[in-house]
Amino acid sequence: MSGVIVVSGSERRFPRSLIEFRDRFATESACAQCLFERRWPEGFVCPGCGGGRAWLLQTKAFTYECADCGRQTSVTAGTIMHASKLPLTIWFWAAFLMATRSNGISALQLQNQLGLGSYRTAWMLCAKLRRAMVNPEREPLSGLVEADETMIPFRTKNDPVVVPAGRSGVGKMLVAGAVEIEGGKPRRARLNVIEGFGKHELHTFVLGAVAPQTQLVTDDWPSYQNLPGVRHNAITLGPMAAHIALPWIHRLFSNLKRWGLGVYHGLRKPNLQHYLDEFVFRFNRRRTRHAAFDTLLGIGTRTTPVPYRVLIRRAA
Ligand SMILES: [Zn+2]
Repeated sequence: MSGVIVVSGSERRFPRSLIEFRDRFATESACAQCLFERRWPEGFVCPGCGGGRAWLLQTKAFTYECADCGRQTSVTAGTIMHASKLPLTIWFWAAFLMATRSNGISALQLQNQLGLGSYRTAWMLCAKLRRAMVNPEREPLSGLVEADETMIPFRTKNDPVVVPAGRSGVGKMLVAGAVEIEGGKPRRARLNVIEGFGKHELHTFVLGAVAPQTQLVTDDWPSYQNLPGVRHNAITLGPMAAHIALPWIHRLFSNLKRWGLGVYHGLRKPNLQHYLDEFVFRFNRRRTRHAAFDTLLGIGTRTTPVPYRVLIRRAA
């Protein structure tokens, strides 16, 4: 037997089911306790003076006052939950559903599932979580990378996209994508909204997404030619279908389109980049749900997700 997935300790401790999650994070204080342990695994440390003695304030929720310098520090400081009026339990549930559902969750679904009072609250919650999805320090793709571009129809007003692509009245959004391939399997991806399929747009996308000396595979669209610092293999498709020559990026695009229709009934033009970010976030963390959960809540932000390859170990 081979290909056994060995998960890290924190992944193993991550709740496996809704029941387990509900039991573990049932109260505000349970959520606050979790945040405290993530933030100060060795016990409280004052960010002001480094002191280790503090009082839990009675007047402010989950806030500690340093016994030495008097500075007050909340367990939510530095997370997206800070200064929010929503209960921590709601934030935890929303992040859990976003991180663990393979297709994510729309604001309307979240409103219904969590019994939120208004759609606006649910929408804001989703928007904040979605903005936590791009790690500004993420590493560029490297090694073998497939890149391509596509068009997706967008939804206007409240009309779902049900008309065939190309029909008048339905606009198109242009998207560039890249997928890193290792051992014949996809690892991480990038998707960006682009303004056109010209050389400037595609060069900007590729050079922003991949590391120098990447082995890039594309079709023979001329805009990809002469990329500086990249080893480029342009495949002339001819009779060969694009989904055979560039299988992973094509699978990514088709999953993206299906996801957009399935979860959001068609993506809208404003905020499209955030939806692409959400799709990529979930794709890149499909094996590390606990890391996705932590990232969404803004906790443990200095710990980058363990790469998939580290999680795979051949059984003896
Ligand atoms: Zn202090």
